[in-house]
Amino acid sequence: MENIEQSCIFCSIIAGDVPGEVVYHDDQVVAIKDANPQAPVHVLLIPREHNLESLNDASKLDVSLLGHLLYTAAKVANQMDIAESGYRVVINNAEAAGQSVPHLHVHVLGGRHLAWPPG
Ligand code: AMP
Ligand code: ZN
Repeated sequence: MENIEQSCIFCSIIAGDVPGEVVYHDDQVVAIKDANPQAPVHVLLIPREHNLESLNDASKLDVSLLGHLLYTAAKVANQMDIAESGYRVVINNAEAAGQSVPHLHVHVLGGRHLAWPPG
């Protein structure tokens, strides 16, 4: 296996080498509970493939995956029972936004009031 995948925490979780609490999965995406939740519901949607480190890397070829991630965010919000009360879908992109894992992922947060603007 290529080294990037070996050293990537999300690839390790998807490979089953590191435990993760999976709440949803399909052929493109795995959704896990965030290990350091910032809200009562905090799920990460992670593409199975490690080809995009961040949204900056996305090209037109990734439009279908990006759409699927948003569609899945709504589906998981519904599954986690926060669709009606409200939730936020977040992608932290690069340093100033606080991205800490260089494997594209989408946060789904809910279960409490979420202030705006975010910090
Ligand atoms: P970001 O800061 O946007 O890159 O988000 C990375 C997220 O991954 C953070 O919210 C972390 O709490 C979460 N995280 C890091 N390691 C793990 C892990 N092993 N299992 C679940 N979530 C993790
Ligand atoms: Zn990865």
